[in-house]
Amino acid sequence: MNIENLLKYQEMDRKLHNIEQKISSSPYRKKANELSSIVKKAQNRASELDGEAEKIIAEIDDIKEKYNLNKSKLDELLACGVEKMTMDDIEKTNNLRSKIYSNLNILEKMLQKSAENVNHVLAEFNKMRKLNEDARNQYLACKQKIDEETKNLEPEKENLKKELAVLEKTVDNELMTEYKKKRNEIFPVLVELRGDHFCGGCSMELPKVAISRIKEKGVITCEYCKRFVYKK
Ligand SMILES: [Zn+2]
Repeated sequence: MNIENLLKYQEMDRKLHNIEQKISSSPYRKKANELSSIVKKAQNRASELDGEAEKIIAEIDDIKEKYNLNKSKLDELLACGVEKMTMDDIEKTNNLRSKIYSNLNILEKMLQKSAENVNHVLAEFNKMRKLNEDARNQYLACKQKIDEETKNLEPEKENLKKELAVLEKTVDNELMTEYKKKRNEIFPVLVELRGDHFCGGCSMELPKVAISRIKEKGVITCEYCKRFVYKK
């Protein structure tokens, strides 16, 4: 099989491949990926914080309820006249009153702590929102640069594709189909046998039986990297 034409095709295809590489390895693309993961993380954290805030607010409601309950008990006690009480009753009432005061004190502290927690959560939430917004704007700017880069390279790409379409007709059909399947995974697809035994792509030593078939078949497939190997 004549592989000269496939070699010519591959040389032209190399230019297209280089452009494709240039597009996919653009620093803007890398930056855009980083920014998109920052946006995702900020959004996840914000929704976690949302859940935390909800929990704290429920806690505060609970504390307030307990506080009001204790407060009304205290009001009840304070309204009772001591005139008709026995000494025993007065002592019990005093004990109860100081217990309620202590409860109210504890609940007030809890309320204060919860309020502080809510403030922390809110502050972090705002920080996340700002981070998300900044990253999103930067992402859009990157995206625009990527689009510009891609658009600028488009005419050259189209020209190469046209030339490749012409060259394609000179190559064996089956070989061309296989080549196209491989070219996005491994490039170059077609490599020369190196030092009589080794794949010119991955440098692995190829079996003698396979090498002996190169002459008759034109190319063999490297069992390691799946490239086409030819011999001059
Ligand atoms: Zn190989």
